[in-house]
Amino acid sequence: MICGKPLNKRHMIRHTRKCAEENAQVLGNKDEVFYLIAEGSLLPMYWILVSIPSRMTLEDLDAFLRDIWLECCRHPSFFTIDRIRYSGDPATADPGIIRTESMNKQLKTVLKPGMKFRYDFDPVAPTKLRFRIMDLLEKIPVAPGITLLARNDPPELRCGRCGGEAFCVRAGNEKINPERLLCVQCKAKESPADNDFLPLVNSPRIGMCKYNGGNTR
Ligand SMILES: [Zn+2]
Ligand SMILES: [Zn+2]
Ligand SMILES: [Zn+2]
Repeated sequence: MICGKPLNKRHMIRHTRKCAEENAQVLGNKDEVFYLIAEGSLLPMYWILVSIPSRMTLEDLDAFLRDIWLECCRHPSFFTIDRIRYSGDPATADPGIIRTESMNKQLKTVLKPGMKFRYDFDPVAPTKLRFRIMDLLEKIPVAPGITLLARNDPPELRCGRCGGEAFCVRAGNEKINPERLLCVQCKAKESPADNDFLPLVNSPRIGMCKYNGGNTR
């Protein structure tokens, strides 16, 4: 998103940090920012590299993820960090969890460099994300607030029937599989009344619930 250079995930993690620091803008207030990667736990080919001021909250990060990647119909979500659940909703019993707290927590109070943590969106048609905090930086990269620094190119997807270029995906509550992907021609053979299809979106929520990428930037 800064210099336009295409790189794979591993190289992009290194490059983007350098690129963002070189292009950092001097802003009035001096902030620390977390530099982090988020990716689909089951579909890690979908990933984003993001900078976020450490004074912002888990609520802010949740809103950003919904906006760029996830939101279809206001599903509940929660973060799991060090066996503590940060949720907008009352606790559900989970043996792996020590306690549940609100998402209204500043990132600097719950995260530190090197840390890994998880995020769950929608218990019915779940999309699971995992995160790694690459670093805490003192220079502000590029723009204030949460900044998208890099993301994956849309992966090439093939029709599960004929192998042609996929055009849409049948909606479901589980991770997409090849049988749910259809090209334009194979989709045309389906019943016209069958409108249970979703567009291909560049998101780990592809094919889930009603997510049509309406918010995908
Ligand atoms: Zn660059
Ligand atoms: Zn939904
Ligand atoms: Zn086909």
